[in-house]
Amino acid sequence: MADERAKRIAELIKPLRVKPGSKVNLGEDYDPGYKADSLKKKDGAELLRTGIALLADYQRRLAAQNTYGVLVCLQALDAGGKDGTIRHVMSGVNPQGVTVSGFKVPSAEELDHDYLWRYACRLPARGQIGIFNRSHYEEVLVVRVHPENLDRQQLPRAAKGKGVWERRYREINDWERYLTDNGFRVVKLFLNLSKEEQRTRFLKRIDVPEKNWKFSAADVRERERWDDYQHAFSQMLSATSTRWAPWYVIPADRKWFARICAAAVIVHTLMEIDPRYPTVSADRRQQLLTVRRELEDEAPKGAPADPFAAKEANEAKEAREVAATKARAARNGAARASSRAGRPRAAGRTGSEA
Ligand code: ATP
Ligand code: MG
Repeated sequence: MADERAKRIAELIKPLRVKPGSKVNLGEDYDPGYKADSLKKKDGAELLRTGIALLADYQRRLAAQNTYGVLVCLQALDAGGKDGTIRHVMSGVNPQGVTVSGFKVPSAEELDHDYLWRYACRLPARGQIGIFNRSHYEEVLVVRVHPENLDRQQLPRAAKGKGVWERRYREINDWERYLTDNGFRVVKLFLNLSKEEQRTRFLKRIDVPEKNWKFSAADVRERERWDDYQHAFSQMLSATSTRWAPWYVIPADRKWFARICAAAVIVHTLMEIDPRYPTVSADRRQQLLTVRRELEDEAPKGAPADPFAAKEANEAKEAREVAATKARAARNGAARASSRAGRPRAAGRTGSEA
């Protein structure tokens, strides 16, 4: 069952993974309106619930160990659905195990450091899932589309001259490899929105008063640079989808499908890590059993020695009885159906013989 689920998830996300070393042309290679043929919107809510429950289960296991951590990088153009994806996909997880960090225009303090510094400061700890709402990839996206940002970074001449983007891709790949080698998986999701769907979502932000606060005139100015962003994304996806940290291009025009895909990629990563609850040594187990006996001896008169074990046993008994009743009903139903099926056949034969 678990293997079957893992297989279905792997199949769903396979077409979204950018093959390391491939040359991406975003507009031609990835359709923002793509949806797996086998999936219908009406089944989507149920599937997302399953994904969220799986994520919650794996996150509990991740939190119980202290070898691995997970960093999720979310990139999108404005109105791509980053906030909604985080809200829905992470809705089932224990907030203590997750941190979300958003990255805006860098502050003066941040500009006083190397460009990866502010991202390194927000990395998750072992056992944690860290989500970057925008990430170090802004350093080769917005900074590339608006090179004045690079001027503000107080770099030595050699670090901002020719070949700056290739150098940054290499540095980012190396940094992510370093993190992966040291137990931190890097999951990279690009929510790929079409220009027309962005227009619709911007209009919605204007038309619906409760969404007005989300609208910014700067977003419309960025939209004018659509082609430059598509180019910067294509270059970035080609250069930084690696064996150790591949990119996933999530079709973002249908929010419900995007959320299922995002959950699937994160669950897939956690399944690969396969975090396990730590087991205790034989000595420690022995100590626990001694304490258990002491606690049982403290039971007040009339109370079960171990109320937890008693409750578990009771629930297991009830579950067995429900299963037995169901099985009996199914057997009776099958017997009735076969006797019903038998009667007309007999009548038919009699009829034809007559
Ligand atoms: P929202 O959904 O609320 O609009 P947002 O992530 O778009 O969320 P904003 O405050 O609207 O947040 O925008 C943040 C801005 O900061 C973006 O335009 C982004 O391109 C910009 N930004 C992020 N990192 C950098 C960077 N390193 N240099 C320059 N600009 C950056
Ligand atoms: Mg914005």
